[in-house]
Amino acid sequence: MLHRRAAVFPLTLAIAVAGCPGSPKTTKPARKAPNKVFVMGFDGMDPTLTRKFMDEGKLPNLKKLAEAGTFETLGSTQPSESPTAWSSFATGVNPGKHNIYDFLTRSFETYLPDLGMVKKGDPPEFLWGLFPTKLPKLTSIRGGTSFWVHAGRDGVKSIVLTVPVTFPPEEIEHGEMLSGLPLSDMRGTIGTFNYWGTDLTSFEEGNTEFGGYLKTLLFENGVAETFIKGPENPILKQEERELKAKKKDGALSESDQKRLDELATTKDVNIPLKVKWSENSGQAELEIQGQKLTLKQGQWSDWVPISFKFNFLIKVHGMTQFYVVRADKELQLYASPVNMDPRNPPIAISKPDDFAPRLAKQIGLYRTLGWAESADKALNEGRLSEADFMYDSEKAFDDRERIFFKNLERTDWDLFVAVIETTDRVSHMMWRLIDPKHPMYDAELAAKYGDSIEKVYRRADDLVGKLQAKLPEGTVFMVMSDHGFHTFRRGVNLNTWLVQNGYMSFHGQLDNKKGLADLFGRGKFFEGVDWTRTKAYAVGLGQIYFNLRGRESQGVVSAGAEYKALQDEIRGKLVTLLDPDTNEPVFRDIYKRDDIYKGEYLQFAPDLQVGFNDGYRVGWQDTLGGVTRAVVENNNRKWSGDHCATATEISGGVFFSNRKIDTKTPNIMDLSPTILKLLGVPLPSDLDGKPLM
Ligand SMILES: [Zn+2]
Repeated sequence: MLHRRAAVFPLTLAIAVAGCPGSPKTTKPARKAPNKVFVMGFDGMDPTLTRKFMDEGKLPNLKKLAEAGTFETLGSTQPSESPTAWSSFATGVNPGKHNIYDFLTRSFETYLPDLGMVKKGDPPEFLWGLFPTKLPKLTSIRGGTSFWVHAGRDGVKSIVLTVPVTFPPEEIEHGEMLSGLPLSDMRGTIGTFNYWGTDLTSFEEGNTEFGGYLKTLLFENGVAETFIKGPENPILKQEERELKAKKKDGALSESDQKRLDELATTKDVNIPLKVKWSENSGQAELEIQGQKLTLKQGQWSDWVPISFKFNFLIKVHGMTQFYVVRADKELQLYASPVNMDPRNPPIAISKPDDFAPRLAKQIGLYRTLGWAESADKALNEGRLSEADFMYDSEKAFDDRERIFFKNLERTDWDLFVAVIETTDRVSHMMWRLIDPKHPMYDAELAAKYGDSIEKVYRRADDLVGKLQAKLPEGTVFMVMSDHGFHTFRRGVNLNTWLVQNGYMSFHGQLDNKKGLADLFGRGKFFEGVDWTRTKAYAVGLGQIYFNLRGRESQGVVSAGAEYKALQDEIRGKLVTLLDPDTNEPVFRDIYKRDDIYKGEYLQFAPDLQVGFNDGYRVGWQDTLGGVTRAVVENNNRKWSGDHCATATEISGGVFFSNRKIDTKTPNIMDLSPTILKLLGVPLPSDLDGKPLM
């Protein structure tokens, strides 16, 4: 998924408050439900791999569950991306009714992409640059109503933990929620790591393609002064906005202009970091905000609390973990994305607000970042190793597990939903080591780490066993995933195809590599596109949008006959596209909007949605708005497995239950009505799914 990518939404916090989708205040007093229901979600658990490991005797608990109850492939959404699929899980409706079609949305006005899960309101405002007078507001763009909200209104007590697309957290009556994706780090991104090296060239410094920030370490008498990159200061942002507005009116003095130039590069609240090291010492000493720590080569620190000061009144709290990669003849140092400190997060990350801090009191610090397995980016960038990534991912699994079991000490719930994403992250990064045909297959690494995916499946199975032992007698137990997994050998650049086939045009020549900054409005996404001569464009992981008159700001395609003809024409050409290297079909199908989506959010849907064959995904540069020369090219990244926009018939996840179900073809949209029925909650009339039992 572009899920990977560090999406930047200027959550630039302060004391912010999250808006919640239609926080309901009804209703019924708490009651006892006819059944207790526990749902354990493992993001990206694939039915083919699961069957294989079960047959090999590696997943005894899931095997038992399958034999006593149910194991089927669970139909996913189109596209089979986590935000889309988890939204359909929660709401029981198709994307046309919940509005989450991808990680990204695009602007009808500018054509630029934005993170497709939250909407930011007006920026915060400060009086005299001091006192917050208006708080920033985040709202989820997800429509529909989740089953835990329905259940709560009907008096059911619930606990909902780290489910994707639950940030900002939803207010649940008689319930508690800890947010999952897209809960950001302190910079408002899905995860920006910091990395320092004595061996980095100045050319490598700065932002990386996949969301890291690199700095060269220069030692003088054994000491280097550097910093941790922090969030943008919302007060300085306001000053910059005001100066820009003044400039627009032509009223900028020389000193104003100087200040504006200065603000362009100094808005980040960086925290000084002092590093002491001598060659071949095997360790480094760090000093940050009065805290001193010594770490040996290969050692991770505990969570180190740090705070970012916006002014003498406003301070926000985060935490990071340091890791000394090398301390021999070079020093290489990594710091994890700065997580919000659960004891005092700058915005609500749970409902009730004090649920997250209370949990920290009970179990100690835990990672709050939605994208908890955050070392994947540094692995993809070649800054951390496979072993480092697996270590950190195990820790992420540990943290989630601790949170689940702490809450399981209580029995006053009738609905419990918990999701772990480690299964997805490890599959994305390590698939190359179980696919000898992958361009990034490496026999030596495969011998060492080829069992990484199997390991995380075994750990999931182990967790299933432990949960079952702990659950109250008679609980209806479900284990499910949002989608399956595939190898990702070849990247397909949809915009390149659109250009080559005359559907997208440019003012001139262009050719430069794009990075994350381009993706989120800071760079030049779709640079040079001549919209007056462009009929279609691709954004995200398999979505093709038409440049429609009356919808897009410079639309050229008319609704009605022209729209339908264009759908047929592009679909007809794409479905026959063969990989020039292998002669395999790239797509299994191309879906027309109205054939797969229905509902009030149809206008935001892609006009065509691609359905990839096994082995293919949208190319990296395509997702970043760059137009490369080749339509189909090798995926030369360690991010080597994927599932985004694979054709519907090969995109399903898993469904296990200790109860039998009525069908061989359950769909992810069926879970919400199934669970509501088990809880004795009347089914809403507009659901697309049907109860399975
Ligand atoms: Zn994924």
